[in-house]
Amino acid sequence: MKNRLEQLSQWLKHENIDFALITSTENIFYLSKYYSNPHERIIALGVFQNDEPFLICPKMEMADAKSAGWDFELLGYSDIENPWEFIRNAIAKRTTTINTIAIEKEQLSIERGEMLQKLYPNIAFRSIEAILNQLRLIKDEAEISILKEAARLADFGVEIGTQAIKEGKSELEIVATIEFELKKKGVRDMSFATMVLTGSKTASPHGTPSVDEVQKGDLVLFDLGVIFEGYCSDITRTVAFDHINEEQKTIYETVLKAQKSAIRACKPGIEIGSIDKTARDIIAEAGYGDYFTHRIGHGLGIGIHEFPSMNATNTDTLQPGMVFTIEPGIYVPTTGGVRIEDDLLITESGVESLTKFPKELMIIK
Ligand code: MN
Ligand code: MN
Repeated sequence: MKNRLEQLSQWLKHENIDFALITSTENIFYLSKYYSNPHERIIALGVFQNDEPFLICPKMEMADAKSAGWDFELLGYSDIENPWEFIRNAIAKRTTTINTIAIEKEQLSIERGEMLQKLYPNIAFRSIEAILNQLRLIKDEAEISILKEAARLADFGVEIGTQAIKEGKSELEIVATIEFELKKKGVRDMSFATMVLTGSKTASPHGTPSVDEVQKGDLVLFDLGVIFEGYCSDITRTVAFDHINEEQKTIYETVLKAQKSAIRACKPGIEIGSIDKTARDIIAEAGYGDYFTHRIGHGLGIGIHEFPSMNATNTDTLQPGMVFTIEPGIYVPTTGGVRIEDDLLITESGVESLTKFPKELMIIK
């Protein structure tokens, strides 16, 4: 944590930026270890070139921030106090020359940006997102062991889901069973709304579970993940219920081949775009090129979608410590879809799959 703050201070010096004000749940967690979503209230982390950082949060959260490990200045405002006064005073204690500040341009609301402009009328804003994304891109050992546990819990969620399939059971009943069992294991939050889709609904990559019931001959798609100690997992498996027809089987085997080939191609130094191409070529050769409508994957960490973006035009190379998904899919309207997704870690010598649930075609009887 101290090391991350120091790296940010170095960057501020290098870029000649007076200070950074960070307000997103994810980046504050990354830099302070304090995970908080204060909704409409503000939490703000100030980082400076040479001075001590500060953290401002709602008064009722101060004890939580401290017990999370924050041991620099901590300021709490009550619901009848103005947090911006606390922010201004904390900054004024450290520096009075304020020309340029770094903010999260993608996340800070216009209202909050205008508040800052009111406090410092001649200020120039710089974006801090590129440097934070760069820092978060390579996971350290502690992050990797948390991500491994998050992936294990995702495997368990899929196992529960496949066991819960029965004729006439609804998608949402299966969602509830998965989440009930995960909660018993201590999972507080899923990393996104758990997806269980049946039949032709599997053709929608971002479909919505409902009271639709599983029928014999359906493909059933699970896409789920948990948040464990602040880090996300994300797994997709598609299974068949009772029996499978020839087209469903062809689609399944094509996606599986594409997914395994893409994973085999992952190692340090490989251009990211080529990983997408490996899978896409296999799917196109099988005649389903038009039905693979999204990128091969995305980075994974505190955010469910973070860097690297695993898309065809990304010319960056894979490096040890990167964690991301590989998740090709084929989605044929009215027929149905298949997606297979794993969470991968680049190691010094190659790649390791963090999610391990079996992915050979499974026909649930
Ligand atoms: Mn997913
Ligand atoms: Mn994903």
